Amino acid sequence: MTVTILAIIFIIVVLVITVLGFKAVIKQGKNPEDIHKEKCSICRVQYHTSQLIERQIGDHHLYFFCGSCINSLHNELISKH
Ligand SMILES: [Zn+2]
Repeated sequence: MTVTILAIIFIIVVLVITVLGFKAVIKQGKNPEDIHKEKCSICRVQYHTSQLIERQIGDHHLYFFCGSCINSLHNELISKH
């Protein structure tokens, strides 16, 4: 009797782990587009990485800049002269 109960509990635990693992895999594969999206470091709007310029500052910091922010920085620099 005890062995049967332990066996049933074991099967339930295995099933739960399987279902959780399966859900995790589905979740990861759900939005492959989000992998290629980053927020602009200035305006915080999310863009596809192909629309952003990426710069590494220091060892770990990655910064992304969108076209309109780069444009406004450029205009600000020009207006100084
Ligand atoms: Zn921006």
